[in-house]
Amino acid sequence: MEIAAIDVYQINLPYAGCQYELSGGRVYTSFDATIVRVTTACGLQGFGESTPFGSNYIAAHALGVRAGIAEMAPHLLGHDPRLCDRLNELMDQCLMGHLHAKAAIDVACWDIFGQSVDMPLHQLLGGSTNERLPVISSIYAGEPDDMRARVQAHRERGYWGHSVKIGASEAQGGPKLDAQRIEAALGDAKQGEFYLVDANGGLSVEHALRLLKLLPPSLDFVLEAPCATYREHQALHRHCDVPLLLDELATDEASVLQAIGDGVAEGIGLKISKAGGLTRSKRQRDLCITAGLTMSVQDTVGSDIAFAAILALGQTVPSKHLRCVLDTRDMVSLHTATLDAPIKDGGVAAPARPGLGVTPKMDTLGTAVAHYS
Ligand SMILES: [Mg+2]
Repeated sequence: MEIAAIDVYQINLPYAGCQYELSGGRVYTSFDATIVRVTTACGLQGFGESTPFGSNYIAAHALGVRAGIAEMAPHLLGHDPRLCDRLNELMDQCLMGHLHAKAAIDVACWDIFGQSVDMPLHQLLGGSTNERLPVISSIYAGEPDDMRARVQAHRERGYWGHSVKIGASEAQGGPKLDAQRIEAALGDAKQGEFYLVDANGGLSVEHALRLLKLLPPSLDFVLEAPCATYREHQALHRHCDVPLLLDELATDEASVLQAIGDGVAEGIGLKISKAGGLTRSKRQRDLCITAGLTMSVQDTVGSDIAFAAILALGQTVPSKHLRCVLDTRDMVSLHTATLDAPIKDGGVAAPARPGLGVTPKMDTLGTAVAHYS
């Protein structure tokens, strides 16, 4: 089997709400998505997606995805898409870094692999745990009462987990406003719910310590990505007793390995496109299981195709190590594929169909912006 063609589609995914606010004054209203279709000489087609969260979230941006694919695609033609490790080595030989550009190709090749052996991807990635995967909401930073209302709205839709965004500047209200946001969002917490408080690297160590001192000690949450640099994260870990989760700073297998060795995190945000696709996400998964870390299996953002890859990997993580999965479909108002994965009782399951289990909506994807054959 060999790759005969690679097509690249570009689509804007509008944010499902009005605007999404992160620490540092970052505001988003839509996301520039790249969808890749890999076609084999025997006619199999696999799909993958890479949708960065704007260009100021991690070192990834949408134009870079497509430029990276242009750099690599001509070299991948003629190679067997099922040999995922070898294909990743080849991509690394063509282009240093740029994991977010490699992710969409890697996932599309896994999709083909699954279809070629008539197996869903979670089986190829190690087998299903047969557990429903806990789903987390994404509650952008805003006024405390509004954040509490948005948690309640997601609770009513069946969500048991919530990712609460913080990171107010001193001018906006600093640690005091962030403490009010956390207390409000967790104010109606029910038995069985869980909370991640995510600063997206927006806090100084001082801000984080002042914030934690303002909170009642009984509040139950994990603090995600408090600081922008590894040194700050290490310093905070020494000074606080709240579990810390690395996200933006967990950039690849090496950074996860370093964090494990240094003992500075209790979990990671494992985002498929940030990690470079399923081949490398699988390695991060195994490192975390070995080290006893929990994982929040996610993507930076994305549509149905990105969510299908999240489900494929999340379905293989033992529940003890799986903090949650993020339903990227909930964040955008456009569907790029049909995917049979409804949320029920706070959880979701990967589809049983071969490969990713998606049927892309080609009318929505439109005409390819690049074609390699
Ligand atoms: Mg995060």
